[in-house]
Parts: sequence; structure tokens; C-alpha cells
Amino acid sequence: QAKLSGKNCYVVFDEDMREHLVQRINTERELSKAIKDDQLILHYQPVINLKTGQIAGCEALVRWQHPEKGLLNPDQFIPIAESSNLIHPLGQWVLESACRQWCEWRRTVFCGLELSLSVNLSPVQFYDEGLLRILPGLLSKYQFSPGELALEITETVLIRDTRKAARVIDKIKALGVEVHLDDFGTGYSSLSHLSEFPIDLIKIDRSFVMQCVESKKHHRVVSGILNLAHELDLPCIAEGIETQDQLWQLQQQGCEYGQGYYIYRPLNVEQMAKVLNTREAEGQEQEATY
Ligand code: C2E
Ligand code: MG
Ligand code: MG
Ligand code: MG
Repeated sequence: QAKLSGKNCYVVFDEDMREHLVQRINTERELSKAIKDDQLILHYQPVINLKTGQIAGCEALVRWQHPEKGLLNPDQFIPIAESSNLIHPLGQWVLESACRQWCEWRRTVFCGLELSLSVNLSPVQFYDEGLLRILPGLLSKYQFSPGELALEITETVLIRDTRKAARVIDKIKALGVEVHLDDFGTGYSSLSHLSEFPIDLIKIDRSFVMQCVESKKHHRVVSGILNLAHELDLPCIAEGIETQDQLWQLQQQGCEYGQGYYIYRPLNVEQMAKVLNTREAEGQEQEATY
């Protein structure tokens, strides 16, 4: 390996690359500090039941409150975390923080309602044995009921190593944790592959939802995904609903759940608590009328 890198790297390793590498190392260093110094925060985007209009739960989305650069989105640092070892402490921070917050909300704001929390997993985390080691502790510490926590993975995770993926999903599910397939339709897995994995729900990618009203083709893709999912008894969440028309259309097509700026943007902790609080008020009102 030394022989290979010697000559080849010397030739292509120019000033631009050096600059790039230095920047990357700096970002890695900053990110490592950010995880320890609590510069990471979570926002929460509600998931709505499209039949009743009521909130069904929410998805935790990580942000980096950078001291100089302001609030950074996951696209700006998750890839760096994934290509270094930082995805492990970062992923663990997200899981623990989201579960702790959820437990607090369950006790103080939405007690008694069946809502669920979704957390995104990076492929590295999914295949790391550490995940299955920490999950049971988190579930009991934060008193999760079966089905109350869901982990979101993408299709690429499944096709990387199909046998291992199926085994990991089985183990996650044995703990009472659901597995949701995120960004569905963008990966390479064929639809028929789907039945081989014991997943619990499909999230239809935003790119299809975005054009489901204007484009006949996208409309049909959404229908196709919904039909297939329902054939397999899997409910769906439509991601990225931005207009009333899209919402209406998805309701017509029988999609169970929805998420998107038109319904709710990702919210900070206070805003999310308010939304959960309203939901409880609604629940009580309804009970009172029966
Ligand atoms: P995702 O899991 O598919 O999350 C949905 C993304 O779409 C979020 O972006 C959300 O803010 C955005 N979104 C929601 N509704 C709409 C809409 O109506 N229109 C548009 N244009 N966008 C909408 P965000 O928060 O920037 O996250 C991007 C991706 O980063 C996520 O995609 C997920 O793959 C990843 N990610 C987020 N949090 C975590 C985390 O804690 N761990 C890991 N490993 N990945 C994360
Ligand atoms: Mg997601
Ligand atoms: Mg998604
Ligand atoms: Mg997406």
C-alpha cells in the first residue's frame, strides 16, 4: 500500500487538495468538540395522520449550532461524521437525547396518547453492533412501549448486505422498535425486494411527493408505491408535503401519514411541546363529547 500511495498521491496531491484536507480535518476536530460541548441540538418534525388530521408522532432531525457559522443542517456535517468515526458518538448522542426528550414530553405533555418518535440512523450505525447493545438500556431507561420508537433507514442500507440487514432488522424489531424505510424510491432496491425485509413502514421520498400533482408520471409512481406497500400491509408516510393540493391528493390516494412544510416545518423543542400539548387538549375534548 505504501508503494501505491507513494507515487500516485504525490502526483495528484496539489494545493487544492491540501486545502480541502486541512479544512476537513478542522471540521472533524470542531465536530468532535461540538458533540462533547453540547453544540448539537434536535429539531422535531410532526407526522400527521392524513385521515384524522391528528398528530401521530414526530421525527428528530439533528442540527449543529456552530459558534461562528450559525445553525448548520445535517447535510453540512453528517457526511463528515460518517466518513470519520464521529458518526458513532454523534448517533449515540442523537438517540439518547431524542429518547430523553420524548420521555419528558410523555410525562409532562402528551401522557396517555399513543404517539411515536422516529430517529434517523446512518448506515454505519445500522451495521454497528453497538446499536443493539445500547438500545435495550435506552428503552427501559426512558420507558418506551413497544412500537413507540422507530428507526429510519434507507434502501441503500438494505442492499449493501441483504442478509445481514435482514438479521439486524429482526433484532431491532425483537426489542419492540419499528424499522421505517426512509426516502423510498430513490435507492436501487427493486420493489420486489421489499417483501424480504420485515420493515414496518415506508416513507415516500419528497421528490415524488413534490410533483405528484403536476406530473402524471409522479402521480403514478406514488400510486404504485402505495399499492405495493398496502399489498404488503405496510402503511406509508409521504415526505415533503408543501401544498394543499399535494396534501389533498395524497389523502385521496389513501396515504396514511404525511410530513412536510405545508403541515409543520421542523420545530424547536418549545414549539414541538406546544404542538403535543394542543393534541392532548384535543384528545380530552373528544373524550368529553362521547
Ligand atoms: P430525512 O430523514 O429524509 O428528513 C427529511 C428532510 O426533509 C429534513 O431535512 C426536513 O427538514 C426536510 N423537509 C421536511 N419537510 C419538507 C418539505 O416540505 N420541503 C422540503 N424541501 N424539505 C422538507 P434535514 O433536517 O436537513 O435533514 C436532511 C437529512 O439528514 C435527513 O433526511 C436525514 O437523512 C439526515 N439526518 C437528519 N437528522 C439525522 C440524524 O440525527 N442522524 C442521521 N444519521 N441522519 C440525520
Ligand atoms: Mg428521515
Ligand atoms: Mg426522508
Ligand atoms: Mg429525504
